[in-house]
Amino acid sequence: MYDVIVVGLGGMGSAAAHHLADRGARVLGLERFGPAHNKGSSHGGSRIVRQSYFEDPAYVPLLLRAYELWEKLERDTGREILSLTGGVMVGPPTSKTVAGSRLSAEKWDLPHEMLDATEVRKRFPTLNPLPDEVALFEERAGFVRPEETVTAHLQLAAAKADIRFEEPMLHYESTSDGVRVITAKGTYEAGELVICPGAWAPELLADLNVPFAIERQIQFWFEPTGGVERFDQSHHPIYIWEDAAGVQVYGFPAHDGPSGGAKVAFFRKGVLCTPETIERTVHQHEIDAMAGHMEKCIPALPGRFLRAATCMYTTTPDEHFVIARHPEHERVTVACGFSGHGFKFVPVVGEILADLALTGRTEHPIALFDPRRSFA
Ligand SMILES: Cc1cc2nc3c(=O)[nH]c(=O)nc-3n(C[C@H](O)[C@H](O)[C@H](O)COP(=O)(O)OP(=O)(O)OC[C@H]3O[C@@H](n4cnc5c(N)ncnc54)[C@H](O)[C@@H]3O)c2cc1C
Repeated sequence: MYDVIVVGLGGMGSAAAHHLADRGARVLGLERFGPAHNKGSSHGGSRIVRQSYFEDPAYVPLLLRAYELWEKLERDTGREILSLTGGVMVGPPTSKTVAGSRLSAEKWDLPHEMLDATEVRKRFPTLNPLPDEVALFEERAGFVRPEETVTAHLQLAAAKADIRFEEPMLHYESTSDGVRVITAKGTYEAGELVICPGAWAPELLADLNVPFAIERQIQFWFEPTGGVERFDQSHHPIYIWEDAAGVQVYGFPAHDGPSGGAKVAFFRKGVLCTPETIERTVHQHEIDAMAGHMEKCIPALPGRFLRAATCMYTTTPDEHFVIARHPEHERVTVACGFSGHGFKFVPVVGEILADLALTGRTEHPIALFDPRRSFA
C-alpha cells in the first residue's frame, strides 16, 4: 500500500513524485514510456522561463516561487538546468506580448526596461524590429533544459520512491480508503492518486469535461548565417515576437555548441492531433514557412536548416492550466491542460501537487486553474 501513486512522469509528474517523496510519502510513480522521453511535451533541449508574464499577472507569484525551486534543483543535483540570458518580448506596443508583459511587470514591480526599435537593434544586433515595434527587456528571463529537469526530478524521486517505466495506467477506481490503479502489468492501491497525463488528458481525464485540444507543434533548429557566435547564450537573449497580425514566434540562443544551432518555433499555429496519430515527419513547406517568417525579424537566423522535432500542446479554451482536486473523485489530484506554457512552472507545480495530495489544499494561488470554470 502506497500513500500516493503518481501517473505520468513527464515534466509535472516527475516533479510531483520528487516533492511527495521528499515530504516522506511512500510514492509509486508510473510512466507509459521511458525516462525523459520525446513522445510527450517535455523534450527539445530548451524551454523559455520569464516573469513579466503576458498571459496573466496571476501567474507571477507562482513564477517567483518556481525560480527559487529551479535554483534549488540545480543545487540539489549538480546539473546545469537554468540559464538566465535575458529576454525580449517584441511587438507593437499594444500587442498582447508587449502590453501584457508590461502589465505583469508593473503590477508586480519586476525589473524591466522598455526599448524602442532603435535601442533593440543597438543592444541586440541580430534583431530587426519594424520602426513601430518596441520591446520589454527582462534580465531574469532565459531558459531551462527540459530533459535535464525531468532526469533531475526522477533522480531525486528514485532515491526514496518506487519508479516504474513502460507501465501505463489502464484505469483507476475508488476504494473505501483511497484508489486502486490497474496498469498493463499489475494492480496497486494507495491513499491518493495524482494524474499528470500531458497529451493523454482527453483519454485519462475525460470526466473533467474540459474541452482539451491536443496540438502538434514543431521546434526548428537553424545554423545562422555567419555562424552561431552572435547567437551564443552569452550574447543573445530569448525572445517572443508578435507581429501586427498577432502571430507569435519565440526562440533561443544557440546553447549546444557550433553544431547545435539556434531553436525557433511558432508559439501557436498547431494542427489538431492525438498522441497516437501525430504526424512526426516535418515537411519542407513547414520549414519554409518558419524560415520565411524569421527572415523579416531575425534575418541571419534561418541560414541553414539543421533539424526539427514535433511536440504536443494540451490546450484549454482559455489557455489557462487545470490544477485541482478532481471534482468527481475525492482522492484524485490532476494537473494538465498546460496550453503550451507550463514548463517554466514545473517545480512549483510539483510543490502544489504535493500540497493537494497530502493536505487537500495549497497556499499557492491556483483559483485560475479550476476545472469547473466556465469555458463558454
Ligand atoms: C514545442 C513546445 C515548446 C514549448 N515551449 C515552452 C516554453 O518555452 N516554456 C514553457 O514554459 N512551456 C513550454 N512548453 C509547454 C511545456 O513543455 C508543457 O506545458 C509541459 O512540458 C507539460 O508537461 P506535462 O507533465 O503535462 O506533460 P508530459 O511531459 O508530456 O508528461 C505527461 C506524461 O504522462 C505519461 N502518460 C500518459 N498517459 C499515461 C498513462 N496512462 N500511464 C502512465 N503514464 C502516462 C506520458 O508518457 C508523459 O510522460 C512547450 C511545449 C512544446 C510542445
